[in-house]
Amino acid sequence: MGARDQLNLDFGDKFNLLCDKEKWEIISQHLIAQDPDSSRDLWLSQLKPVALGIDRFIFTVSARFAKEWIEKHYLSLLEETASKFTGHQVKIEIHVVPPQKGERKRTQKKRKPPFGLSLNENYTFENFVVGQSNRLAYAAAKDVSERPGRKTYNPLFIHGGVGLGKTHLIQAVGNALLESSEVEVVYVPAEYFTFEYVEAIKNGKMSEFREKYRNIDVWLVDDIQFIADKERTTEEFFHTFNTLYETGKQIIICSDRPPEELTPLHPRILSRLKHGPIMGISPPDLELRLAILQKKAEQENFNISPEILLYIAREIKTNIRDLEGALAKLMAWTSINNTQLTLPLAEELLVDYIGRKQTNLTIDDVLKAVCRHFNISQRLIRGKRKDKKVAQPRQICMYLCRELTSAPITEIARALGRTHPAVISGYNKIKEELQRDKELAKLVQEITSKLLPSRE
Ligand code: ADP
Ligand code: MG
Repeated sequence: MGARDQLNLDFGDKFNLLCDKEKWEIISQHLIAQDPDSSRDLWLSQLKPVALGIDRFIFTVSARFAKEWIEKHYLSLLEETASKFTGHQVKIEIHVVPPQKGERKRTQKKRKPPFGLSLNENYTFENFVVGQSNRLAYAAAKDVSERPGRKTYNPLFIHGGVGLGKTHLIQAVGNALLESSEVEVVYVPAEYFTFEYVEAIKNGKMSEFREKYRNIDVWLVDDIQFIADKERTTEEFFHTFNTLYETGKQIIICSDRPPEELTPLHPRILSRLKHGPIMGISPPDLELRLAILQKKAEQENFNISPEILLYIAREIKTNIRDLEGALAKLMAWTSINNTQLTLPLAEELLVDYIGRKQTNLTIDDVLKAVCRHFNISQRLIRGKRKDKKVAQPRQICMYLCRELTSAPITEIARALGRTHPAVISGYNKIKEELQRDKELAKLVQEITSKLLPSRE
């Protein structure tokens, strides 16, 4: 249990021999895999590794906001994780290197968004593998990138689960437009919009805030679900949305769920979001998973047997980010060990990706087992009671759902009638208590062995 959360020390001392890019890939993938439903990937992707030594990691970012956000939310986690990998106490430094004005004219370098977060230059249409599950969303995004602002595709709303390519697609539109046109493109995750908005109020800079949004041509808003329950930010979002929409500017919005599930969104805003097409991306089928792995291996010049690629594609079903993480791990391992990778070796290296997914357990299986064990009803678990008799079994459900099923946190939260943060906090509580409370550990073990009889 918990293999995914244990630090991956397969690299041993050799971790420090990896190049900066490989080190950063391993550490960031590890952090993202620990909490795949959060927006860690977005923020971590803003960090450009400049020098990752044994005890000092230096990064740059392009915006002050990004530096502040990352330092506030991720600094200690980053330092702690990096220290475990390098085996030394690591200090992290983040420096702001803003995009240089006029750079393009002198050096013909790529244009960058005037504000907001920078785009990942690998997120292009060429690097996006198209299959059954993402074809429509891809076609719509491609169309918008060729002719932004047309009524038929405005706003474009793309939704789908974690790690299915929404951010890749929305940024591909941005990258294509920055390259082929003169339009001003701005990419902002909703979380970032909130942060900027609150700062603007605090510093009395609302009119500057509004003015700057008024001057953009294409607005890419990622992870809109983050503001659905924040009334004042949603109001301001609506204001910006209307200003841009009414002047024929293009808006693309990504969300982890369809618009009508963005409760408690105001109906007025909901109806605005539904003005344009709503495109869903569903989990990739085996064919697409394999094609993505092949493409990534090819791009990285990684010589890996088709048998191993097929194994990964078969086992990792729900999430493209995990496919990439698994491949990155094998790649880094091979590059420092100079050994031909075999299937059994790959299986062993990938237990933290595939281990817990070998079961087909569902949230419902876990709920039933926990209720049976405590002799309480599922209704109680889903209900409001907070006393220990109900709260603890509920937290055990959260813990076991995360450990034993491949369900995303949003789904666990929905099944238990709880919020996303409540599930994370319940999960963490049990995880911590398991370290000290032997009775609890025994109990959780018993339920687990009933759910996974063949493993015991
Ligand atoms: P989301 O925003 O939906 O959570 P991302 O866009 O961040 O997902 O995608 C996760 C990772 O998977 C990214 O590294 C992205 O490049 C990759 N990815 C997703 N879909 C595809 C695809 N169709 N082809 C190639 N890579 C993909
Ligand atoms: Mg995303």
